[in-house]
Amino acid sequence: MNYEYLMPTKVIFGRNCIAQHSALFKTFGKKALIVTGARSARENGSQKDVTDALKEAGVDYSVFDKVMSNPTIPCVYEGAAAAKEQGADFIIAIGGGSPMDAGKAIALLAAQDIAPEALFSGNYENKVLPMVFVPTTAGTGSEVTQYSILTNDAAQSKTSIASPLIFPTLAFADAKYMECLPVQTTVNTAADALSHLVEGMLSSRASLLSDTLAAKGIGLFTACLPELLNALKTGSPAGVSPEARERLLQASLLGGMVIAQTGTTVVHAMGYSLTYFRDIDHGRANGLLLGAYLEFVEQHDPELARRVLHAAGYPQSRPFREMLALLMGEREAVGAEEIARYAKIAAGSKNMGNCVAKPTEEEILQLYQRSFA
Ligand SMILES: [Zn+2]
Repeated sequence: MNYEYLMPTKVIFGRNCIAQHSALFKTFGKKALIVTGARSARENGSQKDVTDALKEAGVDYSVFDKVMSNPTIPCVYEGAAAAKEQGADFIIAIGGGSPMDAGKAIALLAAQDIAPEALFSGNYENKVLPMVFVPTTAGTGSEVTQYSILTNDAAQSKTSIASPLIFPTLAFADAKYMECLPVQTTVNTAADALSHLVEGMLSSRASLLSDTLAAKGIGLFTACLPELLNALKTGSPAGVSPEARERLLQASLLGGMVIAQTGTTVVHAMGYSLTYFRDIDHGRANGLLLGAYLEFVEQHDPELARRVLHAAGYPQSRPFREMLALLMGEREAVGAEEIARYAKIAAGSKNMGNCVAKPTEEEILQLYQRSFA
C-alpha cells in the first residue's frame, strides 16, 4: 500500500475559540480582508466575534461581503481586487462553503496574477495570502481542504481549483454559530459531510488514514440522525442540540480532511449538474444521489460497500438508502431529457477517475433514474 497524507491546516475547535485565541490574528499581518456573504455571518454572531478579536489584537480590517451562493469567477476576481486595493495581508473567510471557497481563490489571486483562462490550471507561483477560516455550517469541510469550487459558466458546471497552496492556514471551528441554522440547511449540509465521508471510502485514493477518519465521521453523523429526523418534523433549529451540532461539525471537519486526500466521486460529479442547472442545494444533491450509488457499489464491490455500511451501522444498502430518503423528504421532479444531459456531463468529469466502482454513462443515467423515481 502506498499513500501520502497532507493536512497542513491548524484546527482550533470549541466554544468561543475565536475570543480565546484573538492574539493569533496579529501573527498574519496588520490588515485583514473579511470575505463573507451578505447576511448570515452578521446574524449568527461569527462576524462580530472575528471583528472583536481583530480589535483586541490591534489588526485593521475591511469587509468584502459580496459572495453569493455558488460563487462565480467574476466574484473572486472582484474580491482579489478589493484585497489588493485595501493592502490586505491575509484573508478571513466566514460562512458556509461559498465564502470559504471564494476566500481561497481570493487569497491566491491577491498574491499573484492569474488570467481567468489559467485559473483552473494548477500552474501557480508559490504565493498566496494566509487564510483564517470560520465555518458557519457543518458540511463542506472547506476549512480543511485545498479545493475552491467555483461556478464555471464556460464549462456549464462547477469547477475546482485544487492546489496544496490553498489549504487554509488556520480554521476556527465553533458549533455555536450553527445553533440558529434552519433545520433544512442543517440537514443539507450534514448530507454533504456524509457524502464526503462515504465517497472518501469509495475512492481509489482512500488509505488507512483517510478510512479511519471517514469511519469515525460516519459514526458521528449517524449518532445525530434521530435528532435531525425529529427536528425536520418540528422545523425548530433548537431541535438539534448543541452536542449534536458539535458532532456534526466534527463529522464535517473529518469529511473535509478525508476528501483532501481522496477527492470525491461520481456522486459529486452527478450532483454538480443538479446544482448548476436546477439550483438544488449542493449537499441536498449529494444526499439525493448517495443511496443509489452505494447500492451500485454493493452490487459491484460488496466488500467495499460493507465497510461503509458497517461504519454507519447498517447491515445493507437498502435501509441506508431508506434513511437518506427519509432525511431528504420529497424529491424534485427531474425529466428524462435533463437526466441524459447530466449523465453525459458527469461521465466526462474528472471525479470519475476516483471511483473504485466506476459506472458507465448508461449506468450513471440509471443512477439518476433510481434517485428520482
Ligand atoms: Zn461537497
